[in-house]
Amino acid sequence: MNLPQPILLRVEESRRIHPSFQRVVFRGDGLSRVPENCAGLHIKLFFPAPGQDSLTLPVRRETGIEWPPSDKRPVSRTFSIRACDRQQEKLTVDFVLHPEPGIASDWAANANPGDLLGLAGPGEVTLYDPEAPVQYLIGDLSALPALEAVAEEMPASTDIRVFIELPEGVESRPEWFRGDNIRVSYLVQQYDPESELLPLLRAEGIDPEATGVSLAGEHRTVVALRAWLRSLGLPKPRLYAVPYWRFGDDEEAYHADRHEVMDN
Ligand SMILES: Cc1cc2nc3c(=O)[nH]c(=O)nc-3n(C[C@H](O)[C@H](O)[C@H](O)COP(=O)(O)OP(=O)(O)OC[C@H]3O[C@@H](n4cnc5c(N)ncnc54)[C@H](O)[C@@H]3O)c2cc1C
Repeated sequence: MNLPQPILLRVEESRRIHPSFQRVVFRGDGLSRVPENCAGLHIKLFFPAPGQDSLTLPVRRETGIEWPPSDKRPVSRTFSIRACDRQQEKLTVDFVLHPEPGIASDWAANANPGDLLGLAGPGEVTLYDPEAPVQYLIGDLSALPALEAVAEEMPASTDIRVFIELPEGVESRPEWFRGDNIRVSYLVQQYDPESELLPLLRAEGIDPEATGVSLAGEHRTVVALRAWLRSLGLPKPRLYAVPYWRFGDDEEAYHADRHEVMDN
């Protein structure tokens, strides 16, 4: 069996597109394997661990992933495809520059052309059902790249309603979610969906027969909203609900719990 192996990505361009975002455009041999409708697809990125001066990638075997020995093992983080150009083998990722130190965020803040990362994926999960005439896109900064990409890829006939929670003091941009078919609400991120976000969504009167939802972001909000959306009877293929991170935990501490949430 010919398994798609992790590949090396080289930074072609890196720029601060917002005080909270670094946009990095990568080039890599093998990026033509990214499917055409790539909006928001999940990818794993491999970063050199602290103290490592080179990057060693894992290898995919039929039995699973074979990691390099611990002193060479890279750090892995999950990100979303913001844009892809399969012909030119280019891939764009928008990294949140969050206030707490983090391997990925710190790497992105200092990324320069020529820097190397590893990539596995993309995974096969799709973020939306193009057949749903009404689509809710709900998330925070970590979900913004995926949700923006999804909004751009959706049919122009889709009635798109966006709810984004932004950390206090972080401002939205007019270029986010542009289109006559898109209505956007920005809220201050509360880590407590009952305080504002859920009441607003309840007031929307969501019709489960006609609606799709793409929901991602901080753990507590995603878990609470997913339970409520399921209680409305939203069909499974029309509900993408994935917690992307958890306040107070790095990815190593949160990883197993995320998988438990996803398995439920
Ligand atoms: C499917 C999927 C797609 C994702 N797509 C993207 C994407 O496109 N862009 C993106 O930036 N992130 C994305 N994320 C989230 C990203 O993987 C996490 O934010 C990850 O923790 C970042 O790694 P780090 O090394 O910077 O921080 P870590 O070392 O994991 O965490 C360090 C500290 O920072 C905090 N922290 C982590 N993320 C955030 C955040 N977003 N805001 C505030 N504090 C934070 C942690 O709670 C911890 O205290 C995605 C996650 C998943 C599962």
